[in-house]
Amino acid sequence: MTDAVPDWLAEARRICVLTGAGISTDSGIPDYRGPNGVWTRDPDAEKLVTLGFYLADPEIRRRSWLMRQALQDADPQPNAGHAALVELERQGRLRALVTQNIDGLHQAAGSSPARVLEIHGTVHEVVCVGCGDRTAMSGALARVAAGESDPACMVCGDVLKSATVYFGQMLDELVVASCTAAAADCDVFLAVGTSLQVWPAAGLADIALGAGARLVVVNAQPTPYDHLADLVVREPIGTALPRLLATPD
Ligand SMILES: [Zn+2]
Repeated sequence: MTDAVPDWLAEARRICVLTGAGISTDSGIPDYRGPNGVWTRDPDAEKLVTLGFYLADPEIRRRSWLMRQALQDADPQPNAGHAALVELERQGRLRALVTQNIDGLHQAAGSSPARVLEIHGTVHEVVCVGCGDRTAMSGALARVAAGESDPACMVCGDVLKSATVYFGQMLDELVVASCTAAAADCDVFLAVGTSLQVWPAAGLADIALGAGARLVVVNAQPTPYDHLADLVVREPIGTALPRLLATPD
């Protein structure tokens, strides 16, 4: 369970990290797809992040704004897992930090925004589905608090949504290209708190392996990549990452 950190990991210099929901559960953010996940327990909740339902139904949008308000009120804080990745960057060993999370907790912990590749976007901004205007989530939520149940774009009047990738939406091609380049250019690919079942996360592990990188999986449940991994760690992320990423000195 707490084996020594292998030399190849201690000596790695270009680590590409991929994080999923598991790293944020210690910050009180629910895992949506896990065994006790929000969507697993209430499949109807998935409508809130499906573009077709969102655009068609004002009631879905009203519920979405309330959900965003609740998340802002909860004010989740980064945890020891996030801090360990800030330390990895400080060591100069971080090639890229790819995240499936939309919570912004890597940046809140202190990771450089330029190093964080948010493949599913961020909940800290809103974007207009019509003109693409992007503004801060806090501004839209202030309008909700002032009584607007479904604030519209101030520029063109069209529907606003969080700047996250909904079901039915394409991923940002530039972000995916940056992730792909990092996966192909790392010596270790470290997958943390992700089931490695959703594209493009799984594809990035394939790219890294194909380029000769070592694979480390830190996840509570088995993943389809465990048999390809050089190291599989089931220990809680908050203790596993500080241990695995400490530099011997
Ligand atoms: Zn607009």
